[in-house]
Amino acid sequence: MRRPMVAGNWKMNGTRASVAELVESLRMQVLPADIEIAVFPSAVHVSQVLDGVDGEHVAVGTQDCAAQNGFGALTGEVSAEQFADFGCKWVLVGHSERRLLLGETDEVVSRKFSAAQVGGLKPVLCLGETLEERRAGKTLEVVGRQLARVLDDRGVAAFESAVIAYEPVWAIGSGLTATPEQAQEVHAAIREQLSRHDGRIAEGVRLLYGGSVKAENAAELFAMADIDGGLVGGASLKADEFGAICRAA
Ligand code: 13P
Repeated sequence: MRRPMVAGNWKMNGTRASVAELVESLRMQVLPADIEIAVFPSAVHVSQVLDGVDGEHVAVGTQDCAAQNGFGALTGEVSAEQFADFGCKWVLVGHSERRLLLGETDEVVSRKFSAAQVGGLKPVLCLGETLEERRAGKTLEVVGRQLARVLDDRGVAAFESAVIAYEPVWAIGSGLTATPEQAQEVHAAIREQLSRHDGRIAEGVRLLYGGSVKAENAAELFAMADIDGGLVGGASLKADEFGAICRAA
């Protein structure tokens, strides 16, 4: 039985004051104990959020890490080891905003996935197709290629301590959510691809859906057989709504 997970990606949002308010409001939420919950603030707010949330219940992750491990001369980068040292547990890898707007290739994503695990963080590997790719009927091919790169480089065993998030690019921040059936189709294909390498690991890995998840659509998405929770952007900035999404998982 897979333990559901709800993750909040705060993206490039927040000031010290607004983050303090959000953390305080999150503490007031009644959050289900039987699911895993994580929030991903901006790197500058990681320490503040770690101090503020109840670490037993709400874990903290970071939105990116360096592809290089350890410490050294790499101006502006932050390594997985540095985030782990602060108490971070998770890192997003391969988010479409980084792939499409910041030029991260499948190769870089795969290196960051590895750097995360070597440095003591659990990666949430994000996969997803653009609208153009979906319209061209290439969804499963694109998602399959993105996953294959990490599978080939790192091996299926690496997915014992990783989570995968399927986030169709056209559904991110657009208000357009994939239907539960559209999401389920891709999640099933991801699990099938993993099962060709190792059936047990494929059954155990959690697959989150992301893309305009809201309180009102969370339950129907999470009810699908291969959807084990959500990666929530905009709605995770509102504690009430994030709490409701957690309770739907
Ligand atoms: P939205 O929930 O705002 O569509 O963002 C999804 C996302 O990109 C989470 O990583």
